[in-house]
Amino acid sequence: MDIVRFYLYVALLSSSVISLDCVGQNSSELFIKNNEYNFSDSLLPYVKFKDNVQIFTHGKIIDGSGKSILEDQTLIIENGLIKEFGSSNDIKLLDLSADEAGGVEVVNLRGKTIIPGIIGMHNHLHIPQFPNLGEVAAKLYLASGVTTIQTCGATDSDAELLLSEQIKSGQKLGPEIIPSAPFITGEGGNPNMIIPKDEQHLRDTMLYWIDRGIKWFKVYRNINPKDLKTVIDLAHDHGGKVRGHMCSLTFEQASNLGIDGIEHGLNSASDFRTDKDYGICNGGREYMDELVINSSEVVNLQKTMIKNHVFLTSTLAIFESSIPNRSYANKESLISMSPYLKSQYEARRNDFNDEIKDSTRNQRFKRIMEFEYQFFKMGGLLCSGVDAGRHILPGFGDQRNFILHRETGFTTEEAIQIMTANGAKALGRTDIGSIQIGKRADFIILDGDLQDNPNVINKVETVFKNGIGYDPKKILNSIKGGFGRE
Ligand SMILES: [Zn+2]
Repeated sequence: MDIVRFYLYVALLSSSVISLDCVGQNSSELFIKNNEYNFSDSLLPYVKFKDNVQIFTHGKIIDGSGKSILEDQTLIIENGLIKEFGSSNDIKLLDLSADEAGGVEVVNLRGKTIIPGIIGMHNHLHIPQFPNLGEVAAKLYLASGVTTIQTCGATDSDAELLLSEQIKSGQKLGPEIIPSAPFITGEGGNPNMIIPKDEQHLRDTMLYWIDRGIKWFKVYRNINPKDLKTVIDLAHDHGGKVRGHMCSLTFEQASNLGIDGIEHGLNSASDFRTDKDYGICNGGREYMDELVINSSEVVNLQKTMIKNHVFLTSTLAIFESSIPNRSYANKESLISMSPYLKSQYEARRNDFNDEIKDSTRNQRFKRIMEFEYQFFKMGGLLCSGVDAGRHILPGFGDQRNFILHRETGFTTEEAIQIMTANGAKALGRTDIGSIQIGKRADFIILDGDLQDNPNVINKVETVFKNGIGYDPKKILNSIKGGFGRE
């Protein structure tokens, strides 16, 4: 790493001279100015960069917009925001006073890639069997480059709210958390979720969480049509959003009722199910084996979703984990898993070996990918999330999604867009999701060329959130064997 002191840079492109005002005048100001993005001393061991101004040169930038990769870029951040970026040829750094105090660290990123912080749109703080793994999950997310999550349903909304506040105030490590109310389902659904007794009960419950500051609601497979309408209308009246893991209602019905987001792609579409009854979660998935993705019935459904501004969230990594010949945990995940989760994984792997030739699941997986590709290409808002479970861990599963989006046929730029800017758009956020002047300095430095090698997504060197750079290795070291203990 080259460390040079500068206090002025000249943007030749605009022929203007821009001074990094506070720098070089009073170095003690630097830290104070970062107060807005405060963090407690307990987080200091994980912090790599905390200066008010930081300059990165000669990196490749994938900005999240889906546009072509930008080569040899200089990126300057200040006060937690992206102040400037452009070609390293156009932004010249002038060493006007190398000895003066208050200099700025300049980091050479040749051979490395910068992408926006990942926005995980189906990123729970729990997994099956473990209702609250919030703190460890939050660390895993951050260490993997996920800087914002919408949890898409909570098993413990109080815990989510608390952790989200603790992270915001710098007491705990993690991404920005946009919490969810408890899942809402219907008759016959999971008894741990809210099953509305009547409309008043449903409204009372939702208003309770809205009062607590939660705006995101998740409906689950057994929701009945009348309740879904109530949930959508009440949430929208209060500036909230509704997402659904559908089954009882089809994607088309939910879209026409005004749902905001639909989860898991084709796998949870009951639109094409055989023997399905209205408002009931029944019927089989055999339809998937015959379904032609570019047929008019599928295209028309996707048109309906797009017309109603429904975003679709892809959760490929968790689907892949149930396909025998593809179901392998990566090394980092195994290191982070508790002995119990590891033994479960090993037992599952042993069972899988006997049915390794399962081609049905492989083919269905391909169809799920085709459905997402077509939705995106038709102009649909496709997002991405991990939906952690089995050996798919928070964060590592988000990284796996990138590889799977590439396998789907998306370019590197499109895959990053799906995982970053599209999430921001679905969240209605303009301050995050892409590398753009004025946006929050949430980005990841990857140690390698992501375009040449998709596996570079796993090589997170530094994660910036609000302009503070965290060290993934140190975060991961603090949780060895810790995911899946309570
Ligand atoms: Zn989920």
